[in-house]
Amino acid sequence: MSPDFQKVYEVLKREFGPQKIRKLPPMDELVLTILSQNTSDRNRDLAWERLRERFPEIGDLLGADLQELEELIRPAGLNRQKARRIKEALHLIKERFGELKIPLKGQELYDFLRSIKGVGPKTAAVVALFSYGEPFFPVDTHIFRVAKRIPLADGKTREEVQDTLTHLVPDHLKMELHLLLIELGRKYCRPRPKCSSCPLRELCKYRRNRERKNSG
Ligand code: SF4
Repeated sequence: MSPDFQKVYEVLKREFGPQKIRKLPPMDELVLTILSQNTSDRNRDLAWERLRERFPEIGDLLGADLQELEELIRPAGLNRQKARRIKEALHLIKERFGELKIPLKGQELYDFLRSIKGVGPKTAAVVALFSYGEPFFPVDTHIFRVAKRIPLADGKTREEVQDTLTHLVPDHLKMELHLLLIELGRKYCRPRPKCSSCPLRELCKYRRNRERKNSG
């Protein structure tokens, strides 16, 4: 039986409040999500600010000098790899569609994004959901951990859990629930979980099993 996502959403919203939904143009979101891989939001934002200050138009990145780009995004880490990936992604889109726009929808959009080097399942789903409003449910490490523990979905890998949640979570909840579950993963459901104060403790199988084990 699938969990009551509406209830999970309501409990988390009561705890964390309404979430600010970021709505960036698709190419901005794509570059930002490449920058955000394996780094903190703070370092990603710093790299993004430096990048946009130097190149206010995303199209300017097509002609940008690679070394300058690497230097600008240094705060985000893995800067040489990320700089190359950003340029390759934008060039691929320009070559394929003649402009920096992807005129695709749904699974076709997702599959195209996934075909870009360095764009994994989560990045593709983030861009599809937040910039195109397509009904995907991105699963990062926090959400994967929460989803396995409560549990919210079956699946061995992050991609499998993402596919399952994409089908199970009602579309109108996807954006906010994604953000709320990340908050839960950061504040309570960490690798060492704080179950006793967690807002989802009543719904969580992991917490019940742990308590049973401790009392037996
Ligand atoms: S009760 Fe514990 S394991 Fe369950 S979601 Fe909360 S923090 Fe995670």
